[in-house]
Amino acid sequence: MELITILNRCHRFRGFVYHRAAFSPDHKSIEISVRPRKGSAAVCSRCHQPAPGYDQLPERRFEFIPFWGFFVFLLYAMRRVDCRRCAAVVVEEVPWADGKRTLTKAYMLFLARWARRLSWKETAQAFRTSWEKVFDAVEHVVAWGLEHRSLGQIDAIGVDEIQYAKGHKYLTLVYQIDLGVTRLLWVGKERTIASFQGFFTAMGQDVISKIAFVCSDMWEPYLKLIREKCSEALHILDRFHIVANMNKALDKVRAEETGRIKREGRDPVLKKSRWLLLRHSENLGPEQHFRLRDLLRYNLKTVRAYLLKEAFQQLWEYNSPAWAGKFLDEWCRQTMRSRIDPMKKIARSLRTHRELILNYFRAQKLLSSGVVEGLNNKAKVTMRRSYGFRTYRVLELALYHSLGKLPEPESTHDFF
Ligand SMILES: [Zn+2]
Repeated sequence: MELITILNRCHRFRGFVYHRAAFSPDHKSIEISVRPRKGSAAVCSRCHQPAPGYDQLPERRFEFIPFWGFFVFLLYAMRRVDCRRCAAVVVEEVPWADGKRTLTKAYMLFLARWARRLSWKETAQAFRTSWEKVFDAVEHVVAWGLEHRSLGQIDAIGVDEIQYAKGHKYLTLVYQIDLGVTRLLWVGKERTIASFQGFFTAMGQDVISKIAFVCSDMWEPYLKLIREKCSEALHILDRFHIVANMNKALDKVRAEETGRIKREGRDPVLKKSRWLLLRHSENLGPEQHFRLRDLLRYNLKTVRAYLLKEAFQQLWEYNSPAWAGKFLDEWCRQTMRSRIDPMKKIARSLRTHRELILNYFRAQKLLSSGVVEGLNNKAKVTMRRSYGFRTYRVLELALYHSLGKLPEPESTHDFF
């Protein structure tokens, strides 16, 4: 069986024939020359219609999937056409490549699939290619996927941000969080009104107007645009972020108090208490429980802040928005009298966003923000994997590639 027979089986295109396969002079690569089929006209790459030939460019090498430890290249001299429709001399379109890159489409899809399982660097090493080529492959596959994905009806979205570099460099991520369909819909640079606006533009009014639930944190630019653009949707403040903010406040109280105790030369009772206090008390082991109980006997701001935080957890047990509201008001009232500034700040913010918090109960807890949280954790894992260069463009591609559930370009064969 010859190589060309195999290629005709898995990578055949009308209008072109495989002519000859041979080793390169150093025997590291297999080179297969491709020719136009006799009598078949070249296709203009601008208008995608056949057009009369003009001339032929020097032979180019298109990298194909490596085979038994040999690099494989398709060699082809591209024709130019004199296209009357476009009124220009245009290079022809070839079905195995995208016109911009030296990798064949089949090889790009192959590399991009591996780049979802391995880091881009590992993918490059595994197939003895460069990081840049893996980047090209993912870029090609993601661009195709974004162009060809169907948005369909989107009932619920979750908006979140992640920090991707030092110095307040954030990304805004929008997820679809419907029951049964969760995927990354959009990535935007920064977390400003201007950047978030890009999401609404990208989705189009038709999709946006049908969104029934929006889940977000308390970041003001998000709140503002959601109010404007999704005025019909039920906007729910993300439970996870409320708890996270409260933990931050508690941690601040603890750090301040630890410092004060140290300065005053008192017994360092708060030493190593950080995780005891931040973890949900149900998740503590017996030994930790004992230490926590011991700690709670002290009359400390940290202890009072901790008790307020623990008491707040009860909010999520309510089913009725009215009762949840009563509880929330009472908790805020108590906290405002606590004379613990970071906790008072939380209470003020909860009062400001009271209605959005109660929407969580109005949505009958259908939308667990845990979904957003889960997706965001995956996004962070994606981000942490080494992609070589942590630029916005690389992250954007990596995130769409691993979380977007994008369709893949059609392939002549499944090159697994
Ligand atoms: Zn044309």
